[in-house]
Amino acid sequence: MRTKIVAGNWKMNKTQQETETLAAELAAKLPDTGAEVIVAPTFVNLTTAVRSLENSVIQVAAQNMHFADSGAYTGEISADMLLDIDVDVVILGHSERRSHFGETDDMLAKKVNTALDKNMRIIFCFGEELEDRKSDNHFAVVESQLKNALFSLKAEAFKNIVLAYEPVWAIGTGETASPEQAQEMHAFIRKTMAAKYDAAVANNISILYGGSVKPANAKEIFSKPDVDGGLIGGAALNADDFIAIVRAI
Ligand code: PGA
Repeated sequence: MRTKIVAGNWKMNKTQQETETLAAELAAKLPDTGAEVIVAPTFVNLTTAVRSLENSVIQVAAQNMHFADSGAYTGEISADMLLDIDVDVVILGHSERRSHFGETDDMLAKKVNTALDKNMRIIFCFGEELEDRKSDNHFAVVESQLKNALFSLKAEAFKNIVLAYEPVWAIGTGETASPEQAQEMHAFIRKTMAAKYDAAVANNISILYGGSVKPANAKEIFSKPDVDGGLIGGAALNADDFIAIVRAI
């Protein structure tokens, strides 16, 4: 049985006070579904979230980190800094990092290696753009994103990696991939993992879907056999919406 996960990516939202309030509300309302629940506030509010959730099973993740241990990287955050404040989960490769901040597969491969060296868990995001889908290139794009950033890893590394398929055209647009499109891609990802590694790696890795998941569509998306949960953006900013999505798992 694969781990089911619902993760909320808060992006560049919420003040410290709002972080505390949302975290407390989530902790109070969280249903016991057996799924892992993770939230990713901004760097400056990680400590607040960790404190607010210290008696909760909800885990706290960072939205990014640098690959270097320390040094002259103005504005960046290292793995050790995250671990020092009790954050051991990190989202890497989000499409907004790739498109607005120039993150490449090569940089992501380095970040993945650093995170694994530090014993952190990774939610690794990838997904095609609209033009890729229109030109029927979406499988090739996804395969190359996986290959370039992850396929020099050993099979054991995938115990600490969660995959998050997020078609760029569905992020923040209100346009969700249909449950069938999500299932089709997730099955392809699993097949690609099996071909590169083995059936055990492919069957044990959790693959989340992300892109305009809402309370109204979560149940149908999550019902697909290769969809093991979701990475939620906009709908994670409201406690009732996020909890409704957790219930849908
Ligand atoms: P969205 O964002 O749910 O607002 O589409 C998803 C994400 O970026 O992870």
